[in-house]
Amino acid sequence: MANSIWTIEEFTCTGCSMNYTATREEHSEAHAGHFKCTICSGVVHAWSGKHHFFGWKAVTTRPPVFGRRWAGADW
Ligand SMILES: [Zn+2]
Repeated sequence: MANSIWTIEEFTCTGCSMNYTATREEHSEAHAGHFKCTICSGVVHAWSGKHHFFGWKAVTTRPPVFGRRWAGADW
């Protein structure tokens, strides 16, 4: 494959309901991995197959504090 196909997918932690986004990259070979929640250490997503996820980011869909700047949340 000359070019990688990247798509953004969303996941929600079943332990603490934290939302995450990750970049899914298609591969020609099988990969396996998992991502653990940075809040509760629960497994947010486990995968195996011809794709890989990277670039996990926490997403705040519900601002925890009103008036707080949303942009640039650096977890
Ligand atoms: Zn969690």
